[in-house]
Amino acid sequence: MHEISSYKSIINTVIGGLILAAILWLIPETWFWLKNIFITIRTHLSAFSDVRNWVLYGLGFFAGVTLLHLFTKFFQRLFPTFKNYKKDVFLDSVWRWEYGHKDKLIGINGFCKECDTELVWDENSNHNNQIFTTLQCERCNEPKLVELMEANELTEKVRKLIERKIRNGEWKLAIKTLS
Ligand SMILES: [Zn+2]
Repeated sequence: MHEISSYKSIINTVIGGLILAAILWLIPETWFWLKNIFITIRTHLSAFSDVRNWVLYGLGFFAGVTLLHLFTKFFQRLFPTFKNYKKDVFLDSVWRWEYGHKDKLIGINGFCKECDTELVWDENSNHNNQIFTTLQCERCNEPKLVELMEANELTEKVRKLIERKIRNGEWKLAIKTLS
């Protein structure tokens, strides 16, 4: 069944190609037109530019770097790894981070869920001498997160939430929904 359908599609392609060739053959203007385009492109490409070599090398270098960058981005999108997972929502705030030496999570920081402004950390103690950490959005001018713990404990809490998703593979869903 599969072989028959692929055989049919080959025949269809061949017939389509023959019809196209026949049309091109029958219209001499098409040939003339195609030939002109080909000659124009060839003349342009083989022409000498009156610029200094360093300009050409510079342009070539930047073109190469840009292509490499685009190629890397394309492959990252096609085959993402957990290192593409650098943003998520925890404790009703947006969190971003980077990967350092040996994939250690670094630069864990909170952002406002409403306006995406970086939150300002503040550590204080209440009347019971309990330490609490506030993450404030200066743009919305209101606290976005208040946790009864020290700032470094809060960072550790978020680190554990991120690492959990990396371990169990939930990061794959997160990069699709949050990108
Ligand atoms: Zn805000």
